[in-house]
Amino acid sequence: MGQLSSRKALEKLKEGNRNFCDGKPGHEKQDAARRAELAAGQEPFAVVLSCADSRVVPELVFDVGLGEIFVVRVAGNIANTSSIASIEYAIQHLNPKVNLVVVLGHEGCGAVKAALGGGDCGHHLNMLLAHLQPAVSQATGKTDAAKLVSTVKKNARLTAKRLGLASKSFERKSLEIVPAYYNLASGKVDFL
Ligand SMILES: [Zn+2]
Repeated sequence: MGQLSSRKALEKLKEGNRNFCDGKPGHEKQDAARRAELAAGQEPFAVVLSCADSRVVPELVFDVGLGEIFVVRVAGNIANTSSIASIEYAIQHLNPKVNLVVVLGHEGCGAVKAALGGGDCGHHLNMLLAHLQPAVSQATGKTDAAKLVSTVKKNARLTAKRLGLASKSFERKSLEIVPAYYNLASGKVDFL
């Protein structure tokens, strides 16, 4: 694939998402020839930080094949040391460097729901949910459902912002970090 500008990379993801929504995925670059081609190295054109939710699978959602996107998954698509370091690797150390990072929140996110609910979820989950607190504290909406949507979107935006400030690697001019929201039933990704 080689290097794509952030704009071209975003266009490609949008096009793939349209195929997915229309039920006409190309399923390209998933065969033995592609595996052989990639054995020498990877050149993904975008990074996606997404939730671990089984319903949100970035490679399917964007209709891409092996080696096309560098996916980091963690519940609540949070920016913690491990996720930041993984993304840093892709945007700084891969050759060519990746120019687009998408932070993909999604409808009905259980991690965000748990953070909104509060309470003690056990040591590890509490540590993870703490990263969602900035979004939770800014939650708006009259109903629980509306609050969940607004908090997921807020978290995607804040996480994108946080990544931008995470280190010098993220300050590169050609790099764009874009928050997005995945709709479960339609499969559509709304770029925020
Ligand atoms: Zn989730």
